[in-house]
Amino acid sequence: MPSYSNDASAEKTTFSTDRALKHVKQISQNPHGVGFKAHEDVRDYIVSELDMMGLETSLQEGYTAGDSGNLSKAINILARIKGSGSGKALLLLSHYDSGPHSSLGASDAGSGVATILEGLRAFLAENPNPKNDIIILISDAEELGLNGADLFVKEHPWRRDVGLVLNFEARGSGGPSYMLIETNRGNSRLIEEFTKANTPYPVASSLAYSIYKMLPNDTDLTVFREDGDIEGFNFAFIDDHYDYHTVHDTYERLDRNTLAHQGSYLMPLLKHFSNADLGNLKSLNDYVYFNIPFFKFVSYPFEWIWPMFYLAALLFITFLIHGFRKKELDFIAVLKGFIPILLILAINGIVGYFSWSVLKWMYPHYKDILHGFTYNGHTYITAFVFLSLGVCFMSYQKFKKIKTSNLLVAPIFLWLIICAMVAIYLPGASFFIIPVFALLASFWVTLNQEIPSAFLMVLIALPAIFIFAPFLQMFPVGLGLKMMVASTLLSSLTFLLLLPIFGFFRKKATLAYFCFLIFFGSMIVAHFNSAFSQENAKPTSLLYVFDEDTQSAKWATYENSLSKWTSQYLGESKKVSEKLANATISSKYNSDFTYVSDAPIKEIPSMKIEKTRDTVIGNSRHLDICITPQRDINRLEVFTNKVSLERASVNGIALSSFYLKNRRWGKLITHYVSNNTYTDLTLVFSKDEVLELAIYEASNDLLSNSQFSIPTRPEHNIPMPFILNDAILVTKTVRFD
Ligand SMILES: [Zn+2]
Repeated sequence: MPSYSNDASAEKTTFSTDRALKHVKQISQNPHGVGFKAHEDVRDYIVSELDMMGLETSLQEGYTAGDSGNLSKAINILARIKGSGSGKALLLLSHYDSGPHSSLGASDAGSGVATILEGLRAFLAENPNPKNDIIILISDAEELGLNGADLFVKEHPWRRDVGLVLNFEARGSGGPSYMLIETNRGNSRLIEEFTKANTPYPVASSLAYSIYKMLPNDTDLTVFREDGDIEGFNFAFIDDHYDYHTVHDTYERLDRNTLAHQGSYLMPLLKHFSNADLGNLKSLNDYVYFNIPFFKFVSYPFEWIWPMFYLAALLFITFLIHGFRKKELDFIAVLKGFIPILLILAINGIVGYFSWSVLKWMYPHYKDILHGFTYNGHTYITAFVFLSLGVCFMSYQKFKKIKTSNLLVAPIFLWLIICAMVAIYLPGASFFIIPVFALLASFWVTLNQEIPSAFLMVLIALPAIFIFAPFLQMFPVGLGLKMMVASTLLSSLTFLLLLPIFGFFRKKATLAYFCFLIFFGSMIVAHFNSAFSQENAKPTSLLYVFDEDTQSAKWATYENSLSKWTSQYLGESKKVSEKLANATISSKYNSDFTYVSDAPIKEIPSMKIEKTRDTVIGNSRHLDICITPQRDINRLEVFTNKVSLERASVNGIALSSFYLKNRRWGKLITHYVSNNTYTDLTLVFSKDEVLELAIYEASNDLLSNSQFSIPTRPEHNIPMPFILNDAILVTKTVRFD
């Protein structure tokens, strides 16, 4: 990664992190999700900044419902720079809405918008007349259902001109920005062009992409790929997950190096792709790729995967024969070499697998961090990586009588099996074979030299360190501490690649104790940082839930360990919560209320539900229902009973029949409401069935509503993200006999 230094006075033609930061500061003053007050202010700011660059901006406005029934009216910001050529256009993309309801959105995706604004300004200062058209799309409602991207790809006339998209995103507030490709076919042409652009700090690997493809996390770019068959590059940073979608996603907490990293991608890519042929990026071939110091970015075709594997296997067999013939290898010693490996994998596998459960048992309040990456998460990674290494040293200490050359046979065998599995199931990770070649080289040296040069052995081991070190922490950082097992196993496997060095160490036990010492030290440090504080704030949640059917009210929370603040309402009479009616309000991790308690009845203006049409045509009943809020609301969610809907549309947007058939818990729609607008349902179903709707109407104003006098949330608490929070929720069921 680049390291940030004050660059406010950098030349006009270069990207300045300080200048980009000014945009971040402006954008992240207040939560600016769709329907929130500051949303419009942020849009106005971006439009005025584009205007100042002399660009003509336009807005694209409309409803979409995406693939998961999340309806909202998105307002996209668009601008276009005319190129001198007639080829496909380059599209720069980021989103300006922040996550509902408390996120300040400095990183997500204020950093992306700022990168584009500053990068474009610097680019135009040097290249006022690019060859390709450049379209700028600052999308809306990404956080709700990728609605802005959906609207552009489905309806905007410019969508047909786009040849490539560069998308800037964030899922945390720091760490390196990973380049992730989105394509429906092979990546070879994209990799070739990316390599030509010669970005100074590429962080990318085909392994990360293979895993990214398996995860449910979608970005705006996914819509371009799936619905428009348009390829693109994502640049997204994911570290410091605990700031994501919270009031701590601030200007101050955005890592300056990370923002500089985003700029370091955009500038060379803008220069390259504004001139390249963007009509020629599709390909059927795939490349394996990864980044490594000195060589920066390495790639080779998938066709090489098996030949490289066969070559490694052939070398292994040849060396084995040579070793046995030379009597350097002893059959029993070689077999014994498998025991420490099995020990290491078993112990470190079990420790890694259960570590998160044990930590949650020791510190129950960690359960309130829904994504599972605690504030002291990095310290835990250090702890468990060293614990694993300690186990490795200890295991090999027990087999110190066996010569290193004999000990190396088992790791090479294991690694070849891993490479074969990877070649079949996860070809993107096939670059794992490269350190195996290094391991084979040192095996050859140990077969032929009694005491090889330590310097040579370290040199040969460098690829293993450079390639695997970043992955040791990537998995828990990316997927939560529940993935610690990936760190413990990868540490063990990396240790095996370094065995040509460690095998010659006399005092392995001493090193093991040293590693255990670091483990205990880290655990103690983590313990002292385990409590919540102002810096590491506790996510808290409080809702007022009014049931119109029974005219009863409850306080509710999603917290597992109640904070003092929440206890004021749930403390004395708290009950373990049962599910709300027949379904739970949608949330990222499908969270249920944990506790509820009785609450006083307040006068909440009841929503207006009107039946505007009710006719039977053939065997189908056609029902039009309009729901209009009578108070300030942010979100309306509608569930149905087990009726099978033939057709359904909301505010004129038809829901796909695939979606209607696969609705989870009967959810029909989540409407993220702007300007207290109505929700108009058109439903078609069999005339013999009875329709029942469960309607959840929510506003995020519990803390500011004049009917309540909730004390301000303490400074060491933040609104819990990923769930409905600080809300007044009204539930109502309606039956249509
Ligand atoms: Zn985002």
